[in-house]
Amino acid sequence: MASEELARKLERRLRREEAEEGSPLTAPLGAPAPQPPARPPTASADAELSAQLSRRLDINEGAARPRRCRVFNPYTEFPEFSRRLIKDLESMFKLYDAGQDGFIDLMELKLMMEKLGAPQTHLGLKSMIKEVDEDIDGKLSFREFLLIFHKAAAGLLQEDSGLMALAKLSEIDVALEGVKGAKTFFEAKVQALSSGSKFEAELKAEQDERKREEEERRLRQAAFQELKANFST
Ligand code: CA
Ligand code: CA
Repeated sequence: MASEELARKLERRLRREEAEEGSPLTAPLGAPAPQPPARPPTASADAELSAQLSRRLDINEGAARPRRCRVFNPYTEFPEFSRRLIKDLESMFKLYDAGQDGFIDLMELKLMMEKLGAPQTHLGLKSMIKEVDEDIDGKLSFREFLLIFHKAAAGLLQEDSGLMALAKLSEIDVALEGVKGAKTFFEAKVQALSSGSKFEAELKAEQDERKREEEERRLRQAAFQELKANFST
């Protein structure tokens, strides 16, 4: 999966940064950067590229840049949500992130609320964002988006608030598509908590699904080859 690959790359990058700690970044842009002292001989080209990019970023952004931004893992940060639910919420997030920049900004939230049938005023939208905007950048990251549902499930939202409307209205989809047989989002949450092996079961289901997709792709390719062969004769 692409996101897992990215996570691995970031992990390698962080390790590289750690190895480099202590060697000041004084090299001018474009000059060969200092090599870490104990460099594993098996370091891949990918890791090397990431390390170079990271050094370049360090140089561009200055030494004052806070280091170490942890890779956000929704599955460990929101263990009360099932994998399936997180995936559904991710799809929803991506759907409304029309600009595809990884954030839902005010305009995108405005459209979301209109689509959900609960249009908000400009001020209403602003206060919705403010309530979960942990990094105060005026837009919603995926983590902050999940926080809405976390707060809804934990009873931390006002009943008549915009965020509650968001959680409740999207809950319909979540309940129907996300967790089979669960009547409401909140029941689904309890269900997820009560079955310990659910995580493994879901992993297994995902793997099976991937296998099936691969098989389908293989069949499509075979069909395409056959078609091509027929054309060329
Ligand atoms: Ca966006
Ligand atoms: Ca934010």
